[in-house]
Amino acid sequence: MPDTAAATLLIDGRWQSAPATFDVVDPASLAVVGQAADAGPERARDALAAAARAARGWAGADPETRSGHLRAAAAGIRARQGELAALLSRENGKPLAEANGELAGAARMLEWAAEEGRRAYGRVTPANAAGPGLVLRAPVGPVLAITPWNFPASMLIRKVGLALAAGCPVIAKPAEQTPLIATALLEIVQDTGLPGGVLQSLTTARPAELVGALLADRRLRKVSFTGSTEVGLGLLRQTGDILRRTSLEMGGHSPAIVFDDADLEAAAAGVVTGKFFNAGQSCTAVNRLYVHESVRDDLLSLIEKKTAALKVGRGDAEGTDVGPLIDEAGLAKVENQVADAVGKGARVLVGGNRWTDSALPGHFFEPTVLDGVTPDMLISREETFGPVLAVSAFRTDDEAVELANSTDYGLAAYVFGTDLRRVWRTLDRLDFGVLGVNDPAPVRPELPFGGQKNSGQEREGGAEGIEAYTETKAVALRF
Ligand code: NAD
Repeated sequence: MPDTAAATLLIDGRWQSAPATFDVVDPASLAVVGQAADAGPERARDALAAAARAARGWAGADPETRSGHLRAAAAGIRARQGELAALLSRENGKPLAEANGELAGAARMLEWAAEEGRRAYGRVTPANAAGPGLVLRAPVGPVLAITPWNFPASMLIRKVGLALAAGCPVIAKPAEQTPLIATALLEIVQDTGLPGGVLQSLTTARPAELVGALLADRRLRKVSFTGSTEVGLGLLRQTGDILRRTSLEMGGHSPAIVFDDADLEAAAAGVVTGKFFNAGQSCTAVNRLYVHESVRDDLLSLIEKKTAALKVGRGDAEGTDVGPLIDEAGLAKVENQVADAVGKGARVLVGGNRWTDSALPGHFFEPTVLDGVTPDMLISREETFGPVLAVSAFRTDDEAVELANSTDYGLAAYVFGTDLRRVWRTLDRLDFGVLGVNDPAPVRPELPFGGQKNSGQEREGGAEGIEAYTETKAVALRF
């Protein structure tokens, strides 16, 4: 257990502090709410050395033993969910109800990893004249898990759970905006009695320096990154002459197509939830709404009403639906997209400005709906990452699919409609890794999660999630 508030480094089974710390800020009040240890390259090398020493032992551990740790960690999160949710909400700004939902999801993910890790089967191929063949799956080795601030619990726990279940030691590098919830969760996982070196935690305010040191070391066998496309592509470029498994879960710019046969009330509710959840700071957020022109006015009047009713405020205040954005840069990006769209002819139906309250100096933006958005606007191409919905009407299904596929992203897409044949035909043609049909929350532990195009490679969750932490070995047997 960490002995001081800033002892957020876990290396070889021991919690440690560092010579320097950095401040953690509440994005609603801008108050400093804690400190985290600022690990540099030296601590990173210590962590990797510990992980490398632990790798064989953990890979050889009985899957049932590994599974037991993960189940105990899930129970630990559930037992302290209220307290953890308050911490998550304070650091990240999201409403308490969402923080609770994220933690419950993290516990479910650990339970899934605990179950699925025991089913990391290989296969036997039919014998030829010499003998049969075997396909074996072996843990890939030490993993670096780099995670973002927007879902600081679930993104971290998903990687840690799947990697540990597959038999890999992990070095977790949480986002600098949200190190405290990450530390609290990793402490729960470590306290299930994990052997030293199986799990490390490296908080840092210098991610490029720390990660660079790890990438330069051949003992690191896998990187699992969740974050922006820009940083993810940068990691790939740093590969140099060390080839290793790399999972990238990166940005998204999700479209939602609403057909004229959709249940409009359900579609409006789905779009508003899918958009304004986490103040729009989700990689799977509904950013671009394409609605059939014949139902456009009806759908927009429902969406307008629901959006105007959303309550903005501190995450821990009663009834808050939409919290602050994480920082000034996030707020300025959203503001710039709205100004660009309005300048090119979009109409503001709701919101459109910074949200202000004299008691809350944080980074708030009004839940906003923009109608008449066209492909030349910045918001049509650039990931939004804020509470702004961009709406355009379409005439034909072909046009809707073309618009939906028109960005470099391919993470999530949504289709609202009741004609199954039409929905099926559309799904087939959408270039996205995750598809929600009348469902604004398509992330489930049992489904593989991840994107196409510049949204990523490899998958997390589902059977694919364990596979991503293993190497394949083919064995030819001759008797
Ligand atoms: P980010 O890329 O700035 O940071 C993500 C992580 O990378 C953090 O831990 C950060 O410290 C680290 N990092 C930053 N610069 C680095 C560098 N030069 N070298 C190594 N590591 C570095 O992203 P963010 O702002 O924390 O998160 C928001 C982004 O994450 C959005 O684009 C969002 O779409 C994406 N995201 C994707 C998924 C997904 O599953 N596809 C999920 C959540 C968030």
